[in-house]
Amino acid sequence: MADTLTPEQRSRCMSKVRSKNTAPERLVAAELRARGIRCRRHAKNLPGAPDFVVTRAKIAIFVHGCWWHAHNCPRGSRTPKTNRRYWSQKIARNVTRDRRAARELRAQGWSVWTIWECRLKGRGVPPRLLRKLDDTLDSAADHR
Ligand SMILES: [Zn+2]
Repeated sequence: MADTLTPEQRSRCMSKVRSKNTAPERLVAAELRARGIRCRRHAKNLPGAPDFVVTRAKIAIFVHGCWWHAHNCPRGSRTPKTNRRYWSQKIARNVTRDRRAARELRAQGWSVWTIWECRLKGRGVPPRLLRKLDDTLDSAADHR
């Protein structure tokens, strides 16, 4: 739903619960599918319910909206004009939750990758990341 909104509409929607399967997530899903990479979506049994899980290579991928997860980029550092305190606390909680999830996943032997929304903009998944994914899957296949 969020992808069809103008920035003005989007900011009006900020109070709504974060939606699953956002436009950036769909983009990542399409690229993984195109490369024949099998993955699970929204793995609720894992810490932080990663957006994508490539079980074969033990990779957990989070696709993060820059604003919601306080990315160090222009969009991520934007401060809202109203309810500033409310939003900053909410985002601080997200960041804490993200860190805890990553820590728990790593402790269970998962690699944790974060794909930021701003990196996807108009370009799709960064080629560097796809290459790394291919390499990791290749070596996982070698060790089967
Ligand atoms: Zn960003």
